[in-house]
Amino acid sequence: MAEGLDLLNNVELTTLVILDVYLAIDWYNQNMNFDGLEFLIVGSGFFGSVLAERVATVLGKKVIIVEKRGHIGGNSYSGLCSQTGIEEHLYGAHIFHTSNKRVWDYIRSFSDFTNYQHRVFTEYKSVIYPLPISLATINAFYKKQLRPYEVEAFMQNERANENIVNPTNLEEMAISLIGRPLYEAFIKGYTKKQWDKDPRFLPANIITRLPVRKNYNNNYFNDSYQGLPQNGYFKLFENILSNPKIEVKLNTNFFEIKEKIPSSCHIIFTGPIDQYFNYKFGALEWRGLRFVREVLNYEDFQGTAVMNYADELVPYTRIHEFRHFHPERVAPANKTLVVREYPQAWKVGEDPYYPMGTKENLDRYELYRREAASISNLHIGGRMGQYCYLDMDKTILLALELFDKIRVRYAT
Ligand code: FAD
Ligand code: UDP
Repeated sequence: MAEGLDLLNNVELTTLVILDVYLAIDWYNQNMNFDGLEFLIVGSGFFGSVLAERVATVLGKKVIIVEKRGHIGGNSYSGLCSQTGIEEHLYGAHIFHTSNKRVWDYIRSFSDFTNYQHRVFTEYKSVIYPLPISLATINAFYKKQLRPYEVEAFMQNERANENIVNPTNLEEMAISLIGRPLYEAFIKGYTKKQWDKDPRFLPANIITRLPVRKNYNNNYFNDSYQGLPQNGYFKLFENILSNPKIEVKLNTNFFEIKEKIPSSCHIIFTGPIDQYFNYKFGALEWRGLRFVREVLNYEDFQGTAVMNYADELVPYTRIHEFRHFHPERVAPANKTLVVREYPQAWKVGEDPYYPMGTKENLDRYELYRREAASISNLHIGGRMGQYCYLDMDKTILLALELFDKIRVRYAT
């Protein structure tokens, strides 16, 4: 009974403390001064941070970033697990890979990168196979010993069974690339879980991201450069934002300070474009994710960074074991951190992860894009601003290209 009362008091105390925090934030927001500001950036992910850095360094202008979360770095942010000291990526594992020299040179001016090469495995009906689909996967799956020069004829035979000439959806695209048996084993169940839709009703382009190899190369990416920030993503972002002309206001929602921004100020908005316009053309749909983390008493739980689960009945799509992302670091001998990734339904107000690129959503996005383009000094970008799956390197490139345009405007 006494314990129950204690608990109740604690709840009330917690509510009071939280209320105090909100009042303090409110007071803080009301007292923020944006007079004379030329650049306001909403969001401190790669898109916002790169633009802030360029404006401060190249134009020498003061920049304020407002970030509604309590940390910088957007979805690429990482922190150290308090129980294991292992670096964990808070919004899903993020591997840096690019073939763009400009992006690679730019990002390495803020951090060294390790030579981590991403390799993924998948479990299907209790057997482990390497991904992406390669000669190793094909030979293990069909119990064959095909040579690289025999794969094309073998796959052609598999594909010929279906005779798909112009694939119009994800299922047809996958079958036209790898044939039905491999599609049904490695793609169908995973994709259904990921998108909660039958692959026949998903756009074909989702699957073109998955390479198919006729050799034993099991590097997940084809890019020229790959790695992880040597001292973590958190340190990388601190370095990008280290210019004293950049001021970051955490726990600050743009929509609560919007009215204070001078009309002449450039606004670079990296939140959801539909939210910017108060959903006037309707909400754009996203797929959500839930991460379930666990510290286990093993030195090594799965022997690799990422294990996918292809069977539809396993409710998660993959397990990340973060110690494997940094084999060069010392990690505990008896503890490891694993995170299971569960796709889930999404509703407005929750963290958006994957855009649902149906025609209806893309048409709706186009209405918002046109509206944004008609407002001078407003630049909407990044993955939520452009309603697009963007890898980190593409996000950085788009930010650098937007800066090129802003710079030209400033020069004239
Ligand atoms: P974000 O990182 O989302 O940053 C936007 C920021 O804006 C957020 O911090 C948000 O809090 C803030 N914000 C939004 N609205 C407001 C507001 N009203 N007021 C104030 N602040 C606001 N890419 C890779 O290259 N490699 C990978 O391995 C990889 N893995 C991924 C795994 C998953 C599960 C997902 C979903 C994506 C992955 N990506 C990966 C893509 C990567 O996450 C994006 O490229 C990157 O996050 C884009 O940066 P951004 O700045 O556009 O958006
Ligand atoms: N995919 C799949 N099986 C897998 C991995 C991926 O069917 O084991 C499909 C799935 O439809 C997914 C798409 O390929 O949405 C892209 O996967 P990728 O791993 O490239 O993207 P991520 O989810 O890491 O952004």
